[in-house]
Amino acid sequence: MDARLEEIYQESVRRNPTEPEFQQAVREVIDSVEPLLLREKDYADASILARMVEPERQLMFRVAWEDDEHKIHINRGYRVQFSSVLGPYKGGLRFHPSVNLSIIKFLGFEQTFKNALTRQGIGGGKGGSDFDPHGKSDMEVMRFCQAFMTELSRHIGADCDVPAGDIGVGAREIGYLYGQYKRLTNRNEMGVLTGKGLGWGGSLARKEATGYGVVAFALSMLQERNEDLAGKKVIVSGSGNVAIYAIERAQLLGAQALTISDSSGAVYDPDGIDLELLKQVKEVERGRVSEYAQRRPHAEYRPGKKVWDVPGEVIMPCATQNELRSSDMRTLIANGAQIVVEGANMPLTPGAIEIAQRANLLYAPSKAANAGGVATSALEMQQNAMLQHWDFDKVNNRLDRIMEDIHTTCLETADKMGRPYDYLVGANVAGFKIVADAMLEQGII
Ligand code: GLU
Repeated sequence: MDARLEEIYQESVRRNPTEPEFQQAVREVIDSVEPLLLREKDYADASILARMVEPERQLMFRVAWEDDEHKIHINRGYRVQFSSVLGPYKGGLRFHPSVNLSIIKFLGFEQTFKNALTRQGIGGGKGGSDFDPHGKSDMEVMRFCQAFMTELSRHIGADCDVPAGDIGVGAREIGYLYGQYKRLTNRNEMGVLTGKGLGWGGSLARKEATGYGVVAFALSMLQERNEDLAGKKVIVSGSGNVAIYAIERAQLLGAQALTISDSSGAVYDPDGIDLELLKQVKEVERGRVSEYAQRRPHAEYRPGKKVWDVPGEVIMPCATQNELRSSDMRTLIANGAQIVVEGANMPLTPGAIEIAQRANLLYAPSKAANAGGVATSALEMQQNAMLQHWDFDKVNNRLDRIMEDIHTTCLETADKMGRPYDYLVGANVAGFKIVADAMLEQGII
């Protein structure tokens, strides 16, 4: 790496010594944009990269709440407001025991470029807590959300910072968060959160958007090779919102999804995933994938295992960061994998990406492939601002167009960088340029 870029990276490592995920995300972007930075003197002169790797604001706060037995629990809340150069900070909230500052910062950093690629005028941010909603009663989740929002409410707003869902934060949590925000502010400021209920400002197709967008992106990639998804075997990890709607759209396009997983294990269903049952277990009962397997005649539950040893052509990791490692990638390639499309944020380790690219697999990074979720959040904000409620097709068609545009932008940028079909370079360079050019125009802030 160029000495000046290495220095900026090392300075970021020195400043954030206990944040491996954040360092990983920064490194990946610098590696991709190095040729651009060496060429564009303006970016170096304005210290664009050094400014970009430092969030505009990082908030950490105590969240104290009472469980059903009146025992008091203390969690830590986060909101990292990474970049407002393109619009209000925008990005989800993650409630999961693994959450720490490193994870929220890597997500916020990635979000900034992802949101830039959508071209919807949204900055980048991310937040969350190490609170674990699993096994908690609805009332406990409500009290936690109210306590969390009591602090968060001072820092957000429809024109300032607009949180949404992520792992552990779905329609139920957004409802409780919105209710508390409204109580504290005495205002119905609809655009302050996205992923809202359909009866009070939410957008049709938001729930489906991330998974649908991932599959739309995969289809565009395959069409470059004059192929489509019909008849292909799809290996999906995860069983949350992204996984469910990726499976739905893949099945609509004639593919066969064979796997799902959660933190306890993996399910291989040779008959293809039964979507209605999956929705019943996950969305209605809030159950585990083992319960899905119990109700399917030929499905196999593999406790403690991942899905990566099941053969398939299309790989869609939709669970969490660093879930697909080098050895998993070698197994997938040996079993005939052709294309890897990231539904989760940063699910491939750097080693796994390198192996996939060296084997000439088509690979799409999350900041391009899963941008459909946040893009549709921006469509929700637009509807709220206009006091409108668009029908499903209108939102879904816009989503498809946005995903096509991101795909084209990645391809064209990769070409310009002399790296045809390198979606990683395409996404990183294109996202970086949009943010960097806006920063140049807005001066030193
Ligand atoms: N959490 C999602 C993401 O990673 C969506 C964020 C949003 O809708 O603001 O992009």
